[in-house]
Amino acid sequence: MPKRILVIDLQEPDPEDEEGKKVIRAPRVFINPVFSDESEEHSVYQEGCLSVPEQYADVTRPAEVTVDWQDEDGKHHQERMTGLMATCIQHEHDHLEGILFIDHLSRLKREMVLKKLAKLRKAA
Ligand SMILES: [Zn+2]
Repeated sequence: MPKRILVIDLQEPDPEDEEGKKVIRAPRVFINPVFSDESEEHSVYQEGCLSVPEQYADVTRPAEVTVDWQDEDGKHHQERMTGLMATCIQHEHDHLEGILFIDHLSRLKREMVLKKLAKLRKAA
């Protein structure tokens, strides 16, 4: 069975560090993630992506989602994702389906981003 793998590293600020300058690198691995129970409530984050360089846009997604996955040892996990993690895991999961964040934008907004991207590529 083909494996679908997401690695997410939100680099949370270190709670021990009062100035919040240090970040904790905590990459999390999600193997064969399955989503369920997406919340009715939505949240909006300005998203960007290495696949769409230097472009950012507000994307609306369910604010919470339950994720089932396996870890590297094949152990099953389930967690209710909220906040930035909820947005991030949905963004990354989209990549497994060949969807980019710009595909969530209105046609007009998406065309604007694509135009800027084309200009950027010409200039490079
Ligand atoms: Zn991305």
